[in-house]
Amino acid sequence: MPRLYFDYNATTPLAPSVRQALQVALERNIKNPSSVHAEGREAKRLLDDCRRKTSGLLGCLPEEVCFLSGATEANNTVISSVWESRSQDRKSQGRSKIVTLLVEHDSIVRSLEQFQKKGATVEVVGVNRYGDLDQEALERAVDERTLLVALMASNNETGIQFPVEKVCHLAHERGALFHTDVACTVGKAPFDFGRCGADFASLSAHKFYGPKGIGALLIRRGTKFSPVLVGGAQEFSRRAGTENLFGILGLSEALDFSLHGLERENERLTSLRRWLKEELLRLYEWVVFHEHPTRQLPGALNVAFPGFSGQTLLANLDLEGVAASHGSACQSGSLEVSRVLLAMGIPEEEALGSIRLSFGRMTTEGEVQELLEIMKRVLRRMKK
Ligand code: PMP
Repeated sequence: MPRLYFDYNATTPLAPSVRQALQVALERNIKNPSSVHAEGREAKRLLDDCRRKTSGLLGCLPEEVCFLSGATEANNTVISSVWESRSQDRKSQGRSKIVTLLVEHDSIVRSLEQFQKKGATVEVVGVNRYGDLDQEALERAVDERTLLVALMASNNETGIQFPVEKVCHLAHERGALFHTDVACTVGKAPFDFGRCGADFASLSAHKFYGPKGIGALLIRRGTKFSPVLVGGAQEFSRRAGTENLFGILGLSEALDFSLHGLERENERLTSLRRWLKEELLRLYEWVVFHEHPTRQLPGALNVAFPGFSGQTLLANLDLEGVAASHGSACQSGSLEVSRVLLAMGIPEEEALGSIRLSFGRMTTEGEVQELLEIMKRVLRRMKK
């Protein structure tokens, strides 16, 4: 029996069009885009084409795209760059506070810890029961000492979306820079860097049907920037090292794939999600969903089975052919209770009984039906 994949928020399957484009490129045996010979110039043309396509689809300028290994590197780079270049930026001088959200990805949280040791003040804004940010606390936190506000566009564990445009406006009004992690947003909800107004945005291709280990940091034109990797003029001297051209090609193709017909796809996912929820409630009226009533991505369902161990449930589902997860993919394997759910004020017992089912383009109604059948079997067994 083919396995059922319900872990799209950890990573998505590779799109067929991406696989095809990569196969063609592999056959062409692409050379180094920095070489000046004909082969190098051909590689450079491909790189430029990918950059143009990427920028066009993300609503930014080609030179605002910096390709790198993914959102982890992008998030680390933003924090480092903003901190290191604050003395060169007249507007940022004398500012040392970074405001962020309690449920950010670890690549923001851990990176901020490093800069706290170097003198940065970090103020963390909490979330409510629906995972939404505490607007009043945010208003209080962002002041004339704030250097940067970092707010993810949607959360990887719950699929809850945040009002980034509004918060970006607030940050700018108070003279601070604004960064948004769109790793779990691009390809799932409309995102336009220009319209959003952010100074920086981080993304990873494997979250929208592209290859792993490639992503981009969008950097608003004119923003002061201090690179982490030096020793080469690649990416307009913002990220040294020979470009991952296959990855970059995969990323640009994947963007095209994931954004094509997005609205219709989201309607389909919304009804799949509604059906899955209704069926779960019909079978187990005591289940609890961790979601936002209006700002919810349709491809993620975070559900608690209080009294059950989410970890054991996932292990049993895995044995029965279902791939799902709990917490962040980067933390799975650990028995820790989800800090995102705890931050939302969810009791520990409920958080421990939670799992995340995430799905997307390749998920069919038949698969959801099969998932429900398997869940019934597994939960019956676990009850015994
Ligand atoms: N930010 C968010 C919101 C994520 O979900 C992830 C991946 N779990 C990352 C950043 C890091 O992405 P990557 O592992 O591709 O660098």
